[in-house]
Parts: sequence; structure tokens; C-alpha cells
Amino acid sequence: MRLVFGRHLVEIDGSFPQVGTLAFGIVDRGTNVVEVRPTTVCALSCVFCSVNAGPGSRVRWVEYVVDVGALLVALEEVVRFKGVDDVEVHIDGMGDPGNYPALAELVAGAKAIRGVALVSMQTRLFMLGEEGLRALASAGLDRLNVSIDALDPELAKRLAGAPWYNVERVVELVKKALDLGINVVVSPVWIPGLNDGEMAKIARWAAEAGLGRGLTPVLIQKYVPHKRGRKVKVRPMGWGEFWRRLRELERETGVPLVPRPGEFNIHRAPELPKPYKVGEVVSVEVVERGIFKGEVLAVPVAKRGTAVWDRTLTVAVGRGAEELLGARVKVRILENEHNIYIAAPVGRRLPPQAHYSGE
Ligand code: SF4
Repeated sequence: MRLVFGRHLVEIDGSFPQVGTLAFGIVDRGTNVVEVRPTTVCALSCVFCSVNAGPGSRVRWVEYVVDVGALLVALEEVVRFKGVDDVEVHIDGMGDPGNYPALAELVAGAKAIRGVALVSMQTRLFMLGEEGLRALASAGLDRLNVSIDALDPELAKRLAGAPWYNVERVVELVKKALDLGINVVVSPVWIPGLNDGEMAKIARWAAEAGLGRGLTPVLIQKYVPHKRGRKVKVRPMGWGEFWRRLRELERETGVPLVPRPGEFNIHRAPELPKPYKVGEVVSVEVVERGIFKGEVLAVPVAKRGTAVWDRTLTVAVGRGAEELLGARVKVRILENEHNIYIAAPVGRRLPPQAHYSGE
């Protein structure tokens, strides 16, 4: 078993249903954008990380990397189910997909699926050298959403929780990606009191460097503290204040920061069926640790052999979770929003921190 940051790196093969968890595989939120999550590994420890990734995490007890063949078989089924011809495959996850060893293969495989119009990816980019970018361009990657929270090198290191993080190199790699024909938009997280001064700088740089190519070049994200995420001691902005300040920044910089309706061509598209209702009791086999301590992954005993119906469930156990590995148990479904399943063993009390969807 390989270790990453002292945690087991679990290889997720075709025996795991690829739909059902936020940690890996495929997330379908009922639009033409299909999220593909190949790995949870990330080398940074951003101080605001909503998914508590990286070496600084104290709440994870495992990391995942998905077999590219298993991921592509499931993706093809999901895209076929959607039945539209303008699917955007967006590669992201509870880690940085730039660390995925089979990234170019994943991009090329996704591009080859009938119905897929575009492949995009969220990343911090630094781990992809020029060669990596060239491979992604040849594989047909259309757009990179690059996370940059500060252009000031020292502040960027502080926010990334990594003294070695070099934002100047990331800026160079953005230029390289544009030269290779990959469009780039930048998506900073705005943390009030920490990087306010950086937003206008990032907007001006993005416009000057030609990011977006007709799309809004900067997609600023509001800092939202998450239950399981790392939190910063600041007062988060309300949504009203956030939108008002974005409009002010647009006026100040002359750079568009709010996408026009329809600009990214996101629309409703058939959502995968939900095989289990909230409250339903399901017989499962516990197959692996879940990403956070106290959780396990479970697969229903009755499977159909298709990504359209099969699900991996996250079971919130709390203390003694590891004792369930390999066992057959009954679990009750607690949440099933967007086919992300959270369950609890029947007859056990739910640990207080269990509420996971939406990250
Ligand atoms: S915010 Fe992204 S890059 Fe930063 S630690 Fe979390 S997953 Fe990694």
C-alpha cells in the first residue's frame, strides 16, 4: 500500500461504483456539466481549503486515485444517459487533478466520448511543467480554471500554506497554456481581510494577459467556511455584500467579473436516477475507509453493473469505523442530494459532525 502524507493511497478500480461520493468518480448535478474527480491528492494546505486537503490535513485518513479505464467507462455511460450533445466534462475534485498520473489519457478519453463538447479542469497548475501542458493541449483540453488567490509571492505562500509555492511560476505556466491554445480563466478565493488588495491586481493582470478569450477572465469565489474544511478567522462576506463589491471592482478595473447569462453554456440536462431514498435501509458491504476519519465507503450488495444505477455510499460511523471494514451491514440513507449518498449503520447514533453534501 502506497502512502501519501502518511495516509494510505487507495487505488479505486472498477469494483467501486464511480457515482455516489464527492471524493472520487463522477458527480452529476443535473446539468450538462459532468464533474470528474480522479484524485484527492494535493500538495498544498491552503488555509481556507473547503475539503481539508493536503499534508496539513488532520481529519483525512486516506487518499484516492481512480483507475482511468474505470473512470472513462462510467463517464461514457453517464454522458450517454444525458442524451445531449454539449456536455462539458469538468475535471476537479477534493484534491488537485494536476496530480493525477493519467491526466492526458483522461482528457483524451473524455474528448473522444460522443456528446462531449468541451473538457475543462480546475487546478493550481504549478505541478504541470511545460511538458505536462503540451500533453494536455495535444489531448484536447479546452480550458483551465486556475486557482490563484494572490499575485504577491509572500501572501500567495501564506494562503497556500506552503513556503515553497511559487505564484510567479504559475503566471509563467498560464502564459504557456495560452500559447499552446488552452484557454485559461482564473478563479481566486476572496477572503475578506486577507487578500482584498489582490482582487483588482488579479483582474488587471488577467485582462492584460488575454485570459478568457471572450469569456469572463476572472471568476472570483466567495470564501465560505465549510464544516469539514480549514477555516480562517475572518468575518465572511454575505452574498449581497459580495455581489456589490464585485460590481464595484468591475467599475474600478474595467474588467468583467460577473459572467453574462448563458456565457458558459450551462443548462439543465437529465439527472441520473436516485436508486435509494432518504430513510431507506440498504444492505451493503463495507469496502474501504471514507476520506474523513470515522467514515467508511460501502457498496450495496445488489448491484446492476452500470454507473447509471450503482452507487458508492459514505457511511458515517464515528469511533470504531475501521472495525466495520469487510463487514456486511445494513445502513440507513441520510442524504441523497445529487446522488451523493450519506448513510449511517442501522442501530447506531449519527456522529454530530455528519453532514457532507455541497462541497
Ligand atoms: S484549496 Fe485546492 S489547492 Fe488548496 S489545499 Fe484545498 S484542494 Fe489543495
